[in-house]
Amino acid sequence: MNKFKRKSLFAVMAVAVFALGSTAAMADSKNPKIGFSIDDLRVERWARDRDFFVAAADKLGAKVFVQSADASEQRQIAQIENLISRGVDVIVIVPFNATVLTNTVKEAKKAGIKVVSYDRLILNADIDAYISFDNEKVGEMQAEGVLKAQPKGNYYLLGGSPTDNNAKMLREGQLKVLKPSIDKGDIKIVGQQWVKDWSATEALSIVENALTANNNKIDAIVASNDGTAGGAIQALASQKMAGKVPVSGQDADLAAVKRVIAGTQAMTVYKPLKLIASEAAKLSVQLARNEKPAYNSQYENGVKKVDTILLKPTPLTSANVKLLVDDGFYTQAQISSK
Ligand code: BGC
Repeated sequence: MNKFKRKSLFAVMAVAVFALGSTAAMADSKNPKIGFSIDDLRVERWARDRDFFVAAADKLGAKVFVQSADASEQRQIAQIENLISRGVDVIVIVPFNATVLTNTVKEAKKAGIKVVSYDRLILNADIDAYISFDNEKVGEMQAEGVLKAQPKGNYYLLGGSPTDNNAKMLREGQLKVLKPSIDKGDIKIVGQQWVKDWSATEALSIVENALTANNNKIDAIVASNDGTAGGAIQALASQKMAGKVPVSGQDADLAAVKRVIAGTQAMTVYKPLKLIASEAAKLSVQLARNEKPAYNSQYENGVKKVDTILLKPTPLTSANVKLLVDDGFYTQAQISSK
């Protein structure tokens, strides 16, 4: 092969390699691969989040790989590492523990993968975006709902999981609303406890113990979600106090909606999961395509001010529970069946 021929062959090869490379990149951004690492798919709401997310991503041409850590921090880290080695473009994470993902996120970023924090904020890590409902507002709604039903007396605060940043934001919102009544002496906080893994059984035994310790003199319970509210109401029921002591919640879990209708739970908070899931799918695809998502807020996570999409929650009582049917969250048959 003469010098000229060899040179032009190299040129052709270079063009071919370049073309191959750019086709791969184009295919990636057209059909991005998204990893979805969920704390715990055994919990009702997260299974719905997954279904809505996968459906929305599918419509946008993305492929989703879902993993459930079943409330294990080690398993979640291993699953995220697995998603990194699969070469996904974006990893969307519902963290079990907000504070342990610093290095795992660093690995993802090093591999050129974008990281989105879903519903719960990942702390101390260089994440690209956060999407959630306004958790402080949810906490305010919970306290307002209980305060309206029981403006005076002994209050018990049942918090969420201590590893979940949302639990703290909810508490901030709750205290903001309760503070004037505490200061006036209208209400007294007789106890408070975080509930490990947001477990309903743990909530049940915490409230059983609280009732015993207070000779059943508990007039209201500010519970941070529907699962733990269910445990609290079971403890109240065994003392024939269900329906007499207002209890809050959030998620509009089917069982909780039935309790709201039956009068044993004062309120829940509706967070349209289809909205957060489809907005998150859109956000992920935009990040994969290097487009600029429309953020409306920012949250400090210890490393940076994280660009955030913040969505609006709605308080639900028996007065407006029909909204769930109008919104397609449940059918009338689902909520009215015993
Ligand atoms: C979510 C709640 C959920 C709870 C337990 C929180 O971070 O915001 O909607 O009930 O986790 O899974």
